[in-house]
Amino acid sequence: MASMNIRSGDTVEVIVGGAETRGKRGKVIVVNPETHRVVVEGLNLVTKHKKPRSAQEQGGKFEQPRPIDISNVALVCPKCGQATRVNHVLGDNGKYIRSCHKCGAVIDARAEKKQTKAAKSKNPAPRKRKAKTDEE
Ligand SMILES: [Zn+2]
Repeated sequence: MASMNIRSGDTVEVIVGGAETRGKRGKVIVVNPETHRVVVEGLNLVTKHKKPRSAQEQGGKFEQPRPIDISNVALVCPKCGQATRVNHVLGDNGKYIRSCHKCGAVIDARAEKKQTKAAKSKNPAPRKRKAKTDEE
């Protein structure tokens, strides 16, 4: 069995396909080792029409990412930002850890907890006395 170099939370780049798919990047939401497929946020979208099955559910059109074969994507190194092969190196704790083939940086999805700028801007205003000026 081939090792799974890609984990959920990783950013990957599509390395196959036509101009509209190749080079696109997204975050891995699901990794399925059995089917060797990954679901990547915003990639390989398929529109689904959904009927409401209960009062809580809403019907309508949904864009949903479809699983793509893991061999069609390459891991994007969080350090150097390049799509890269993954090396496995022995870490201090005796476990193999992933590292970037290009820059040698250690890649560990669990260690990536950086706050993005987008998340920061969503911060709700903590002060009540400030009047709202914009609609958004
Ligand atoms: Zn790198």
